Amino acid sequence: MTRLRDRLPAGGGLRDEDWEGRHRLLTVLLAVCMVLLTVFGVFRAEHPADLLIIDGLLLPGLVAAARLRNRRARSIAVALGFAVSCAGFVSLCHGLTEAHFTFFIVIGALALYRDWAPFGGFLAVTVVHHAGFGAADAGHTFGHGQAQANPLVWALLHGIAVLAAAGFHVVAWRLTETEERRAQDNLDESQAQLGVAFDETPVPMAMFGPDGRILRINPAYRDWLRLPDRLPDGFRVADLPLVQVDESEPSLMRLATESREPTNVTRQYRRTDDGSLIWVQTHATGLRDRAGRLRLVLAHCIDVTATRDHEAELRHQVRHDSLTGLLSRKAFEEDLELLLASSAEPVSVIYLDVDRFKSINDEAGHGTGDAVLRALAARLTQVVPDGALLARLAGDEFIAALPGPSGTGLRIGKGILASLAGPLAVGGSELPVSVSVGVTTAFGGVSAEEVVLAADTAMYAAKRAGGNRLQVFTEQLRVPVQERIAAEGRLRRALSGDLRITLPLWFQPVVSTATGRIAGAEALVRMRTPDGEILTPYHFVGVAEETGLIVPLGEHVLRSAVDHLLHWSDRLGYVSVNVSPRQLAEPDFVPMVAGVLAGAPGLDPSRIVLEITETALLDSAVDVSERLASLKHLGVRIALDDFGTGYSSLTWLKSLPADIVKLDRSFVAGLAEDPRKASIIQAVLWLAHSLGMSTIAEGVEELSDWEALKAAGCPAVQGYLFSKPLPAPAFDRMLLASHERATSGGVHLNETTGTVLAG
Ligand code: C2E
Ligand code: CA
Ligand code: CA
Repeated sequence: MTRLRDRLPAGGGLRDEDWEGRHRLLTVLLAVCMVLLTVFGVFRAEHPADLLIIDGLLLPGLVAAARLRNRRARSIAVALGFAVSCAGFVSLCHGLTEAHFTFFIVIGALALYRDWAPFGGFLAVTVVHHAGFGAADAGHTFGHGQAQANPLVWALLHGIAVLAAAGFHVVAWRLTETEERRAQDNLDESQAQLGVAFDETPVPMAMFGPDGRILRINPAYRDWLRLPDRLPDGFRVADLPLVQVDESEPSLMRLATESREPTNVTRQYRRTDDGSLIWVQTHATGLRDRAGRLRLVLAHCIDVTATRDHEAELRHQVRHDSLTGLLSRKAFEEDLELLLASSAEPVSVIYLDVDRFKSINDEAGHGTGDAVLRALAARLTQVVPDGALLARLAGDEFIAALPGPSGTGLRIGKGILASLAGPLAVGGSELPVSVSVGVTTAFGGVSAEEVVLAADTAMYAAKRAGGNRLQVFTEQLRVPVQERIAAEGRLRRALSGDLRITLPLWFQPVVSTATGRIAGAEALVRMRTPDGEILTPYHFVGVAEETGLIVPLGEHVLRSAVDHLLHWSDRLGYVSVNVSPRQLAEPDFVPMVAGVLAGAPGLDPSRIVLEITETALLDSAVDVSERLASLKHLGVRIALDDFGTGYSSLTWLKSLPADIVKLDRSFVAGLAEDPRKASIIQAVLWLAHSLGMSTIAEGVEELSDWEALKAAGCPAVQGYLFSKPLPAPAFDRMLLASHERATSGGVHLNETTGTVLAG
């Protein structure tokens, strides 16, 4: 029995909407039947009462089919209505056999309900009708004699026939159920899988209807927005604790419901629960039915606040200088490019470079250097108008740019200089800081690079003129910069080559007045270019100082000079080497000299003379006397170079630990004819002598000058009169010649140089 039941369809499984459609169809058909039957009855009924009975039974069935609430009762009403129609039709046809076909039609129609109640009900009523009416009124039930004679047998036969017809409907119905169950199982399984994916994913997800009602959310979504476990009925997207910050942008809901494509947007929201601002990236996909109607929207939400913040921070970092908070070089160049392109007014660019910043850094330490840059940045921010671009380009270089009538840059540049008239407060102490300022004004149609270069060029000119001043760019300034750039490249190449070839030392003898012999030599560096040209220091020492390349260059000169001195040890008393202010300011300078001396054991360090200019002593932020003392401690001698060109005062000479004073050529030239020069030289010689210093007169070109110097008692001389600076091999030959002639005395023509030499 149970097996049979298992094999039969369960029935009643239609979904409401499907059932509703079928029921409507059958109810309409029933109503049509009723009408047709009534018309038919009017012509064929033997007694009007028959028609009344039929319609009287049919009408309540129809009303019940339409009005009842219970779906099964409504379907039974339809089934009974049809049963009445069929029975009535058979009766009106006087039991005509073909009228019975209607039962077969109706059983098929009722199978549409896929429910045992109307189906079985109709079958039962059919059999009961045939049996009952067959027995009571065979003439109106069966169309032939045999059936009319045995109505019960024929009622059973008809029942079996209708059942057989119905059997195939049952089979079809059962097969459909099996197929539907299988489809449902598949659907359930994929839904379960989807459900797991939906519920277990850490990505907050929500489904909402086209009306904005939230249909389902996953736990990640609930946790993220701190929603209750069960959302209140009718909870909508608008009820979420999120408010879109930028109201001008269309809401995600609108985009997702209007678009046929998946929507991917990142929006900023304010959380109404804690007030925080968050960035959410939402990917929303609309699911539509076959008719293209939107059924639901599935949204994944990723909180990208942290990433956004990080990106913003990175953008800030890229755009700003970490030390001063001003714009970075890159950001400045980009913004300047935009400003130049968009500004209706001329654009002024102000380029600043801190004077002697390297000494601040070296002497007071990088911490103080950084503090100076920060304090300077703060001061510039005050002086430069709001809205101007203000950046630190690199190291101690700053730049500002702003639109305005011509003269703006000059006015602000002067303001900057004035603002730095007072010292900067740095780490509790006050430090005087000055800057060199270059100003240019662009009138459109130029690149940021060009404008910056022009301002830089002007700044460089201000620096060369002594710093702490402003220079407005003019075309004439441009040339030296290009030369400077070329010179730097050349020097770098030379320094990376074989130094003995690319940067050889030339030597100029220093002649002793008393003996006429070569007492020592000044080493003067030269540069040999790749095409063999020899350049004097004028072409590269300046740039070496500016770029700091003077440090490796100076070390090479000292080492090379010591090597040569060792080579000429028995013929040359000493060698002097020029030391530039920048070199002297290097903290590593003294250790470097010590290192070179240590590499030449047995060499008397007093045979090394370091020539230092007055300006080096005056300009330097370093405590020079301390540094000179350390150098003296190493045993080397110090010469004060170019004496007489600077602020030299005789009293100042006293305070210096120099061993030698080198009188500048400007003092020496024309000495024989100028009694004023003679008296100054006299005084210097006397003072130097009394301080235990030796004196060398430089740039002696004329015999008359030399004679005057000799008469004044100048102990040593140097100049073209004796020899120009010579390459080492030529100087070597001259040393040999001088040695051989040492005893003969007098002035001789030097064959190699065409100059005269005291020998
Ligand atoms: P300085 O130290 O005053 O060197 C003397 C310069 O005067 C040399 O020029 C020399 O050739 C030139 N001179 C010598 N006698 C006469 C003369 O009778 N008449 C004239 N008109 N000039 C004379 P040089 O070699 O071109 O050097 C120029 C400057 O370059 C030097 O001036 C020195 O300040 C610098 N310098 C040279 N070598 C080095 C070096 O190795 N390191 C550093 N830091 N500076 C150097
Ligand atoms: Ca010198
Ligand atoms: Ca000199």
